[in-house]
Amino acid sequence: MKNRYSNVTAQKRVAEWLLPFVLFIISTVVFESSLFAQQKDLKIAGREAVESSVVFRYPLEVPMSLSGNYGELRGNHFHSGIDFRVGGVSGAPIYATERGYISKITVSPTGYGNALYITHPNGYVSVYGHLQKYAEHIQKYLVDKQYEKESFRIDLEFSPEDFPVEKGELVAYAGNTGSSGGPHLHFEIRNENNLPLSVLEHGYVDATDHLAPVLNRVDFYGYVNVFGAPRTFRIQRPRDASAAIKVPQYFYVAIDAVDKMEGTHAKLAVNEYKVYLDSDLVFHLTIGEVPFEESKYINSLIEYSRRHNERKSAIKTYVEPGNLLSSKIERKNDGIIFLPDTLPHKVTIELLDYKRNKFVKSYNVRRDDSLYIDKIKARPQGTHMAWYMANVYERDGFRISIPPASLYRNIYFNLDSAESRITPFAPVWRVHTGEVPLHSGATIQIAYNGPDSLASKALVASCGANGRLYGIGGSYENGVVKAKISTFGNYTITLDQDAPEIIPNFKNGAVLRGNAVSFVIRDRLSGIGSYRVEIDGHWVLARFDAKTARLTVPLKEARIKRGITHKLQITVIDNKGNQTVVKRNFKW
Ligand SMILES: [Zn+2]
Repeated sequence: MKNRYSNVTAQKRVAEWLLPFVLFIISTVVFESSLFAQQKDLKIAGREAVESSVVFRYPLEVPMSLSGNYGELRGNHFHSGIDFRVGGVSGAPIYATERGYISKITVSPTGYGNALYITHPNGYVSVYGHLQKYAEHIQKYLVDKQYEKESFRIDLEFSPEDFPVEKGELVAYAGNTGSSGGPHLHFEIRNENNLPLSVLEHGYVDATDHLAPVLNRVDFYGYVNVFGAPRTFRIQRPRDASAAIKVPQYFYVAIDAVDKMEGTHAKLAVNEYKVYLDSDLVFHLTIGEVPFEESKYINSLIEYSRRHNERKSAIKTYVEPGNLLSSKIERKNDGIIFLPDTLPHKVTIELLDYKRNKFVKSYNVRRDDSLYIDKIKARPQGTHMAWYMANVYERDGFRISIPPASLYRNIYFNLDSAESRITPFAPVWRVHTGEVPLHSGATIQIAYNGPDSLASKALVASCGANGRLYGIGGSYENGVVKAKISTFGNYTITLDQDAPEIIPNFKNGAVLRGNAVSFVIRDRLSGIGSYRVEIDGHWVLARFDAKTARLTVPLKEARIKRGITHKLQITVIDNKGNQTVVKRNFKW
């Protein structure tokens, strides 16, 4: 017995001793085979394969003309795709850029409007935005889904077997849906990590570009950082363009430039910005490819005060501490240029486009602190806020809460109020200045001085320079109206007691010959919360276009009998619960 026992023990011991080795061998084999598999995958997804087996074709048949390029500096984002002209009208057929399958369809009254996503064999996804409509069989499937869900707005995902597509297959028609300023095709190619790629730079779609970027304007800004928050000010340039620009010891430049390309008047994106002090490179930005999550940091990359005041985007060399795009920037002293002496120096600006066409210009500068001594010495007014902290400020019935890293740099926060001539429910609060961006917004609370009976209709509004109020949103709670704001500016409280407006394009009892009825629906302050159109008591699909405020019901899709009189009812409710119902009969 003892012997047997010890035998078992010995076997067990051997097994225990061997086990790590066995596991090691197994894991090595598994690891290596997974490594092998990974390498194979990489090879399929890699550039080589993209260029050989997966070649993206130009998705239209109209001659290629760009109205927008990848990386353009737009409001709150970089343009993530390329815009193709379609001859000024909707309806140009769109062909799949490569074989694959339709993986997603989204329909929205804003943004991409009607959009289509095709996943390709290498994992890349091509995206087609602002579509008028889809190819017939897809359109039919979509409308069925919209009826099933009783929703115009929709987000559908598909498996590879649902809608496989061949390269060059007709998939959709170009249009002007969503946030689009005219018929065009917004086209993107994203990699397997949803990173939008630079279509032209990768050569997926070929375009000729022998033209260098064009400089619109360069501004010089003084920079002072003595009280724990940097302050900047624009420098007056001398009338004589060849005369030296007098700058303080610390300054930066902001470059407003676009790229040009043959065959289009479009203002395209410059890809590389280089700034030299004499022969020293002090700033080098390559915009390259920007993930969607980082796109909003554009507000830190540009001189935001100019964006706010003139709607122009100029890349500044000063790199703020909260700018997460800073990994794209090589720089000295965070892009703040320092002149150690009062000798003449040269600031040189070099701009490059995707095809390496180059623009160069130099400026003479000379340090003269005497001109700026007041600005350099002035003690800032307001309350210090550190960009990386949560900041809360409260005074006289106003409260603001700014989350950490919503500011890109430290500020001295200012708050003022003025009696309002527009609304009796609160003063107008001047909340810092719109020249300073907020990355993730802030929450404000304003004390409400109106009757309790109307409190449910109260909302925060921003006050335009023209004296008009623009509804922001929010709601009443414990004596205050609380709302999220995305920018600093002037805010107050107003009430929305007005029901939405509905303007049909046909008279009651009309005999309709067209294939659609439409309505303009509007709500002045709180905005449209929901709408519903019924014909003969059943929900019907009504397409909403936010930019024109038009709601369109295609009668052919409405699943109603022809040649009889129908009862139509449209209900629109705003975000404060005010409701309008319009009933109309028509014969079709
Ligand atoms: Zn676009």
